[in-house]
Amino acid sequence: MRIILLGPPGSGKGTQAQLMVQRYGIVQLSTGEMLRAAVAAGTPVGLKAKEVMASGGLVPDDVVVGIISDRIDQPDARNGFILDGFPRTVPQAEALDALLKQKHLKLDAVIELRVNESALLSRVETRVAQMRERGEEVRADDTPEVLTKRLASYRNQTEPLIHYYSERRKLSTIDGMMAIDEVTGAIHRQLVALGATESKARAKSTSNSTSKSASKSAARAAPAKKGAAKAKMAKKSAKTAKKPAKSAKKAAKKAVKGTKKAAKKTVKKAAKKAARKSAKKSVKKGAKKAAKKVTKKRAKR
Ligand code: AMP
Repeated sequence: MRIILLGPPGSGKGTQAQLMVQRYGIVQLSTGEMLRAAVAAGTPVGLKAKEVMASGGLVPDDVVVGIISDRIDQPDARNGFILDGFPRTVPQAEALDALLKQKHLKLDAVIELRVNESALLSRVETRVAQMRERGEEVRADDTPEVLTKRLASYRNQTEPLIHYYSERRKLSTIDGMMAIDEVTGAIHRQLVALGATESKARAKSTSNSTSKSASKSAARAAPAKKGAAKAKMAKKSAKTAKKPAKSAKKAAKKAVKGTKKAAKKTVKKAAKKAARKSAKKSVKKGAKKAAKKVTKKRAKR
């Protein structure tokens, strides 16, 4: 599964990304974290990024695109990843599209966490207070002044991505003002509706089956059943997911269509078999009758 988490600073992207890492067994690729590590290590990238980051500006596109491209190639990202804090500009999104195409990878979804801006400031203040309480070092860009600048850069440079991905039918918007577990649940339902992951019940039944190949062949042998389950799942998700309910409905329709098709096929097959059987029977009957006639004639003679 490959997804992008989009949202202003303080919207909970990092928290949700970490929860998704545990739930789906994929890695979180946070450009902010990578850049902070580079700054701490004093690498050339870190030296380039340090000042910009401290002032709340954006690090040049080519720097972050290079970091992400290398990171996607690491073996632990093979299973999937969540991009957190990247892309942040339209040129970065275009570069990502080109990168994924070149690597033959597909993006499953872009999840936007929509939040109320005035609530963000108090969220950041709470986060800073909690970090201080735990004796942790507070980020240089976690002050209200720098946050105001980061919010402005989000509005000007990152928000256009909402239009970019919505045009490409990749965007799903989730209310980021809900409680953490509610946001997690809404994201999961959305991913199920999009077919990026399985629902809990389905995932359980798949893991319970003896082997992957056995469950695969069983699924192949019962297309109608699979279609019906898919339709049920897609319909349920369409009901609960906030957006895009349309695509979920479409998926449900498609699945229902698939079920009907499979059923038709089965009926046709059965009819053909029956026709073949009755033809065979009548041939046999005819042969028997002819044989009887011959014996009668011989007896007469
Ligand atoms: P974050 O932890 O995502 O809030 O990022 C912290 C800082 O790192 C940002 O304020 C930027 O200065 C820099 N940064 C992180 N990701 C990017 C990116 N994709 N493009 C440019 N700068 C970034």
